[in-house]
Amino acid sequence: MNVSTLNGENCSGCGLCAAVCPKNAVRMENKNFFLYPEIDAEKCIDCGICFDKCPHNSFKRQENSEKEVYSAWLKDENLVSQSSSGGLFFAFAKSILEKGGKVCGSVYDDDFCGAKHILSGDISDIMKMRTSKYVQSKTEGVFGEIKKALCENKPVLFTGTPCQAAAVKNFVGENENLYFVTLICHGPTSDKALKAYVSDLEKRENSKITGFNMRKKLKKWLPMYIEASFENGNVKTEPLHLSTFGRIFQSNILMRDSCYECGYKDFPLIGDVIIGDYKGIENITENYNKMGTSCVIVCTEKGKKLFESVSEQIDFQKQEIDAVIKYNQRLTKPVSKPDQKIYEKFVSVFENEGVSAAADFIKPNKSFFQKVLGKIFK
Ligand SMILES: Cc1cc2nc3c(=O)[nH]c(=O)nc-3n(C[C@H](O)[C@H](O)[C@H](O)COP(=O)(O)OP(=O)(O)OC[C@H]3O[C@@H](n4cnc5c(N)ncnc54)[C@H](O)[C@@H]3O)c2cc1C
Repeated sequence: MNVSTLNGENCSGCGLCAAVCPKNAVRMENKNFFLYPEIDAEKCIDCGICFDKCPHNSFKRQENSEKEVYSAWLKDENLVSQSSSGGLFFAFAKSILEKGGKVCGSVYDDDFCGAKHILSGDISDIMKMRTSKYVQSKTEGVFGEIKKALCENKPVLFTGTPCQAAAVKNFVGENENLYFVTLICHGPTSDKALKAYVSDLEKRENSKITGFNMRKKLKKWLPMYIEASFENGNVKTEPLHLSTFGRIFQSNILMRDSCYECGYKDFPLIGDVIIGDYKGIENITENYNKMGTSCVIVCTEKGKKLFESVSEQIDFQKQEIDAVIKYNQRLTKPVSKPDQKIYEKFVSVFENEGVSAAADFIKPNKSFFQKVLGKIFK
């Protein structure tokens, strides 16, 4: 029995099966826009470890009793403007570094065509982990590194999606030095869409991208902007929701099957602390930061200690969990799966006509209509 017997629809691509295989018989391969395990039948000894450790088969949620909810943001406005929402991730990460620990979070690949998790105790890497990369972050290599750091008695903070946290928990087991700060998650998009978008930008600019951010804040928190810096010195920004990548991401068309049926939502939540954008905060209070306010849900005693360790650096207010659920459905429910025929048509347009045509097909933007109207008037 190995993970190949699992229905692919259940695979979250966490990569734990590859990490636990004693014979290196499992590799994560790109299939249908995402990574899935491929078993090398010659190397596989049928030990069943990959199947047993797979979070879909064996992850058990723990009841958590503390459920304190806060709206919060860093007092340092510069740091808020460089984070997705209120910058709480940065505060937690710095607190772990100050204890001599390491942080595992997501950074862009060197070519900005994807993202990967790394483990680091270096503040310059923590800076790169800031902001959401709305593609699936690869985990190759990090499970072993986390275990090694814990064996050296270093505190480790893992940040990522709840399915990734479930995989790390299954790999390490209980460990008092391991902290989890997980994200309220809408579900990442395929990095193929990002790769095609980056390639389009580079062609248009005739220059390589040297910096990229899909949660750039201009004068305020929202709308979100994509900002790309180029080797030639130019910097281009466009609203995420009008960009080809953003329209594909926000239409939910190119997500893993497992995300539409996400088994890691709702209560008990997975993580010591859960962070997200504080959606709807403007309807609850006037006391929020217009450059970014994080929603913070403290779920465990460990999470409470972590929150207390950053309390001097943040402004925060107690809130009610019901309001979070009301305005941020992704805490409790996955996004809906698009119609299969529309998905197939989208894939055909994406593969034959490119990312821009695919985005126009799934979510035409204003400028697309303007283009059509322009043609009619001409
Ligand atoms: C794919 C995705 C979907 C999300 N959907 C929602 C949502 O529906 N509702 C909501 O309220 N919030 C959502 N978030 C979280 C939100 O965008 C912010 O990350 C969150 O508000 C924390 O903001 P911050 O300012 O504290 O930290 P940030 O500066 O945003 O810190 C970013 C943290 O997210 C991690 N991260 C970044 N990209 C990825 C990735 N691709 N995979 C795993 N971890 C990653 C980094 O390691 C770091 O820990 C989503 C994030 C991602 C990555």
